[in-house]
Amino acid sequence: MSTVESITLMLALVYSTSLLYWSGKKWGALVSATLLVGATLASFFWPLLLILLVAVLIVTAVGQYQPTFANAEGRPNTIREICQHFFALSILLVGVQYAINAGFLYAGEIPWIMRPDVGDAFLPIAGGIELKAILTLGLWDQNHPAAVVMLCVVLLTGIVCKRAFCGWACPLGLAGEYLYKLRKKVVHAELLPPAWIDWPLRMLKYLLLAALCYLVFSMPSASIPHYLSGNYHKVADLKMAIFFMMPSITALIGFSLIFALAAWRRQGFCRYICPYGALLGIMSFLSPFKIRRDTQHCLIESKGMSCDKCTRACPANISVHTQKNIRSDECQACMRCVSACPKKQALHFSTRNGIKLSARGLLIVLLTIMFMLPLFAYVGGYWHSQTPDNIKMELIQKLDRIGH
Ligand code: SF4
Ligand code: SF4
Repeated sequence: MSTVESITLMLALVYSTSLLYWSGKKWGALVSATLLVGATLASFFWPLLLILLVAVLIVTAVGQYQPTFANAEGRPNTIREICQHFFALSILLVGVQYAINAGFLYAGEIPWIMRPDVGDAFLPIAGGIELKAILTLGLWDQNHPAAVVMLCVVLLTGIVCKRAFCGWACPLGLAGEYLYKLRKKVVHAELLPPAWIDWPLRMLKYLLLAALCYLVFSMPSASIPHYLSGNYHKVADLKMAIFFMMPSITALIGFSLIFALAAWRRQGFCRYICPYGALLGIMSFLSPFKIRRDTQHCLIESKGMSCDKCTRACPANISVHTQKNIRSDECQACMRCVSACPKKQALHFSTRNGIKLSARGLLIVLLTIMFMLPLFAYVGGYWHSQTPDNIKMELIQKLDRIGH
């Protein structure tokens, strides 16, 4: 496991374990700590153990000097923003480490810096094909195992806590937020499309998802072993990297449109284009957690006042104050509505039978799913790519000639 991956993973898991402890879930903290230490020891990778110790020291030191931050007791908005920036920083560092590794390969030298396998998260089609291979053939891919692990991680977050991945972890969502704020500084007006245009535009991401699913499902199972052992799959990550680092004119026009969309409308990219957002939107219907408005406490019903602070805070334009349960596939569980509500008990993220998940609770769930599964995959030997560096060095020289 690369340095950036190890540090991020250990910090996240030690922090989520400490949050369990601070929330009074002592048994949960004990189970989490046991799993974490057990998996680290079972990995037989001593740097991981060292990083675990350093992560414990860091989290303890932060707890000493910044207890509110360490206990995640702030407003939901603050907790979410810290989480988003943590993920964005880690992905940025992963990108830098990946680029250095690829640079060495391109120069024909064995890289002294490891390739971060988590970069395979950007290969959702490969992940889908690998999942199909596991389910239909019992075949486990050795070239990009992290692709299917990360696909399962994202799917699981959707099933458990709606589109919290989009609202709390996705660095593209955060970048879009900054672009939108920048645009608002220049052009103040809110330029929302009418509902009859908004709905078909929202369906675009589902069409894109359908096209990607078609690529996966239309591949006959008998062809999958050939595909997974082929050169195209071996360098799928490098092809993706080149696509982003040296984009063609068409790709540049596409990126500009996406940036314009993100700047034009808050969450414009997530709402209209992102196929991952579409996948999570579908998964979110399975989640038992929803934003629920308690009419006994809401100012509208309990005091007869007029209030729509939750609706005005919602980046997805959901009319929160007129509904009891938010079922919308656009809800990213961002909890901005909860943060904006003046009545503490009027809005929560909860199940139908009243199990509530605070912002801190959601953070624990998200960090546990997103980091414990990759750790188990790593310990089980299904994380690190087995493609030898000399094969990659050879293939990277003829990337443009390698097709499906
Ligand atoms: S309904 Fe609440 S949690 Fe859902 S997107 Fe809107 S503000 Fe965020
Ligand atoms: S902000 Fe709170 S009190 Fe106001 S309408 Fe929404 S849920 Fe009710």
